[in-house]
Amino acid sequence: MEKLQKALLAWYRENPRSLPWRGEKDPYRILVAEVLLQQTRTAQAIPYYHRFLARFPTLKALREASSEEVLRAWQGAGYYRRALHLHRLAQEVEALPRSHAELLKLPGLGPYTAAAVASLAFGERVAAVDGNVRRVLSRVFALENPAPRALWNLAQGLLPPGEAPGEWNQALMDLGATVCLPRRPLCPRCPIAPFCRGRVDPGRYPGGRKREVREEALAALVLWGREGVYLTRLEGRFAGLYGVPLFPQEELPWRVRGFGVDPRFAGEVRHALTHRRLRVAVYVASWDGEGMVPGEKPLPKLMEKVLRQAQAFLAHEGILPFPHAKTHGVKPLEPG
Ligand code: SF4
Repeated sequence: MEKLQKALLAWYRENPRSLPWRGEKDPYRILVAEVLLQQTRTAQAIPYYHRFLARFPTLKALREASSEEVLRAWQGAGYYRRALHLHRLAQEVEALPRSHAELLKLPGLGPYTAAAVASLAFGERVAAVDGNVRRVLSRVFALENPAPRALWNLAQGLLPPGEAPGEWNQALMDLGATVCLPRRPLCPRCPIAPFCRGRVDPGRYPGGRKREVREEALAALVLWGREGVYLTRLEGRFAGLYGVPLFPQEELPWRVRGFGVDPRFAGEVRHALTHRRLRVAVYVASWDGEGMVPGEKPLPKLMEKVLRQAQAFLAHEGILPFPHAKTHGVKPLEPG
């Protein structure tokens, strides 16, 4: 055990990843990084990390912003509920609590994020087990589909005495991200290969059933007019953001009747979410209904794609496309 710990820490000290939040001690900045990394790949997260912190450098600045401003700063990073949770959290606490147990009570913080903040910012001896760490430990100890609690206990027992726990947590995460890769682990380069029981057949661990990716057929209705595009506030996973009406493909006839339009098919866009693949048929129609006022609104990436598709179609038809990022209606309007 001790040899494994020493080997991994020595490797980490020589090969740390250069990330903007490395060495950071400000708990708020660590929190923003960890929340972004929950669902966004590291390389993609970096520009959003800088943009969000430039706009909201402190918890206080975040507290004083409107949720729309917060969503706009998060725009493009996806999984917007994370940004709304951060915003709510800023309203609940003056400063981030120092312990894992207290951090866990805050909105949007699961065991991993709370442990990462507690160990990195406050030096608490608590193991942070994310997907990377789960994979590394499952392989090292040859565990097939280990239960989360059992894995956490194992990780907790592995924390080296006397070392900064944040450093150890990061060492394990880095090994998972750069060496013990999901598909092709680089075992010959691995500093803990001599201690790894799963090395003979790493693909077997952690195993477990993969969640199926479902395909969904949707339709989006782009109603455009002199003042812009009709947008409504979205619900569900895009709550707080804006978009054109989006619904299951089979609902198109009655949705169209509700608005009293005769739309044209403008092409299809595809969009991937964690466990769903969306195929969205884009329909366009000119419309002079109420509720289209100018003003920038935060849009999810899917809606940007839909509007770009509609714009391209209209431009091809010789119709002056609407400036999609500038003029959007905000008044929610239900069809029918
Ligand atoms: Fe992962 Fe291979 Fe290292 Fe084991 S030896 S921890 S499987 S990279």
